[in-house]
Amino acid sequence: MVKNINKIAITPKNALTAREYLSGIKSGNRAILSKSITLIESSNPKHQKIAEELIELCLPFSGKSVRIGITGVPGVGKSTFIEALGTFLIEDKNKKVAVLAIDPSSKKSGGSILGDKTRMNNLSINDNAFIRPSPSSGTLGGVAKATRESIILRETAGFNTVLIETVGVGQSEIEVKSMVDFFLLLMLAGAGDELQGIKRGIMETADGIFINKADGENIDKAKLAVQEYRNAIHLFPANENHWIPKVQSCSAIENKGIINIWEVVESFINLTTSNGSFIKNRKQQAKFWLEHTIDSAVKSFFYSNDKIKQHIKELERQVMEEKISPFKAARKLLLLFKS
Ligand code: GDP
Repeated sequence: MVKNINKIAITPKNALTAREYLSGIKSGNRAILSKSITLIESSNPKHQKIAEELIELCLPFSGKSVRIGITGVPGVGKSTFIEALGTFLIEDKNKKVAVLAIDPSSKKSGGSILGDKTRMNNLSINDNAFIRPSPSSGTLGGVAKATRESIILRETAGFNTVLIETVGVGQSEIEVKSMVDFFLLLMLAGAGDELQGIKRGIMETADGIFINKADGENIDKAKLAVQEYRNAIHLFPANENHWIPKVQSCSAIENKGIINIWEVVESFINLTTSNGSFIKNRKQQAKFWLEHTIDSAVKSFFYSNDKIKQHIKELERQVMEEKISPFKAARKLLLLFKS
């Protein structure tokens, strides 16, 4: 018999089973959803076991949302934008919106990018929104795993639009790109690409570029920037999914152009659904995460092996002194690992 999960307090002594978590999440119990996210972020092997079981149970109920990644340098207006877009989606489009953030640099700042955000005031108190930062500790791979799994949990809870915020200056946006359906880059007019810390590679992966803060004295500059980016996009290699990235301007603070972004996302979804690339992309992403997870597990297996730990430093020294080739040294270590 499943306990009445809405009535019980979850304490360490009163741990839920994976099935109980599932029914709590599906019934819309936010406390249990929160608790389940904590569970998947936990490094405790007991928690990991329940978490794995829970994810398996959730899979059939997940995957039905639109996942949007939003990136841009700090200060470009990501959280203001998410507040405006999320509110619009809930109020005008009847959506349920989940917001999460990835910030691999947050270990330094001691908090996650959403942690100190008070600007998402409306969204954070809305029953149809669920805002929570991703874990800020651990390796990037670990953060990505937790993020992907927490998307699954939120989708199971009925959130049909997932917004993932990331700072577009590191490696995190590459990881986010491989978790989302639509990747949006927010930029500022007239700041110069170098100044914005945006790598050209990121621009090439964007499905939409929105020039934010197109208000007040900035309107003309924003128009010019839109034209410049449109020209630049023509030079990028064509996308396999036949989508031509859209460039527009918006003002998150004045709520202008927010409808347009949704129109862009909808036309992207329509095109990619009808030509099959939406589902193809999801499948490729799943395969990518399988390979990525194996890669990092094998690597950590290798480096934590006692024989490897015993010999690697000496071989490294010999390689650097050109006493042995790097390939031979690698082969020696791999043989040691296998023996
Ligand atoms: P984030 O660091 O990318 O999340 O940026 P924030 O959303 O925290 O915004 C940084 C600053 O820019 C804040 O002071 C916002 O009020 C301001 N801001 C955000 N969007 C706009 C906008 O559309 N126009 C103007 N003028 N300011 C904005």
